[in-house]
Amino acid sequence: MKVKFNKYAPEVDVPEKRLTPRCDKCPVITCWPKNPRDLLKGPQNCPMKNYPDIIKKAKDIYLDEKRDERDLQLVAARLEAISSRTPPGGTEINMALTRVEEIVQFAKMMGWKKIGIAHCIGLIGEAKILAEFLELRGFEVACVNCKMGGIEKTEIGLKEYEKVRMLSYEAICDNVAQALVLNEEKTDLNIVLGLCMGHDITFSMNSKAPHTTLIVKDRRTGHNPAVPLYQGYPPCNFYYGRMRSVPSETGGR
Ligand code: SF4
Repeated sequence: MKVKFNKYAPEVDVPEKRLTPRCDKCPVITCWPKNPRDLLKGPQNCPMKNYPDIIKKAKDIYLDEKRDERDLQLVAARLEAISSRTPPGGTEINMALTRVEEIVQFAKMMGWKKIGIAHCIGLIGEAKILAEFLELRGFEVACVNCKMGGIEKTEIGLKEYEKVRMLSYEAICDNVAQALVLNEEKTDLNIVLGLCMGHDITFSMNSKAPHTTLIVKDRRTGHNPAVPLYQGYPPCNFYYGRMRSVPSETGGR
């Protein structure tokens, strides 16, 4: 079967056996071409050669007026241009907006009115500032702390030795409840603020409203999870340089 997924590229055969994409190892990045004729000059495992039917399927979703993904895609692309527009005749990209400002702009462009905040108890200060910021820009806010319910960890089967502090009253992070409450509140958008690894997944599995993450919890880096990736390069490679060069089955350094 042949598929045409891009008006600038010829039809592509859907291969019987697909190769797993590894864009991280791509030497040419022709999906961002100087000349669109080069689009298909990527490596053999390029997704454009292995998944042309899937790329066409996604494009059909963007073209379908009845799909939410259409508006989301169009608004996201317009915001991307507002936030990093190259001046006429220039080549530089101006980084204009912070992520907080982008969330506000995006929500306004989508016509959303009520915003939910699902925050970690450890980021209650940030939740207060964000809620104020959103209210001052005309949004209604619903805000839920991960500890709501106060359900003790042993009630759902955790052992004392699995707690942060043994033999103390320790509530679970109740991220399913956070999502269900925000569903009842009929929020238009939910913002995740510092939920733990895994807790963010149970929140996203249960949130009916679209959600975006403003803060990813990273306990070691001040919630800047890209830092270890940058630290893998000299001269900042004392710990993470090892992680890049030494295979590890334990996940440690
Ligand atoms: S999509 Fe193809 S051309 Fe683009 S980075 Fe991946 S392998 Fe390279």
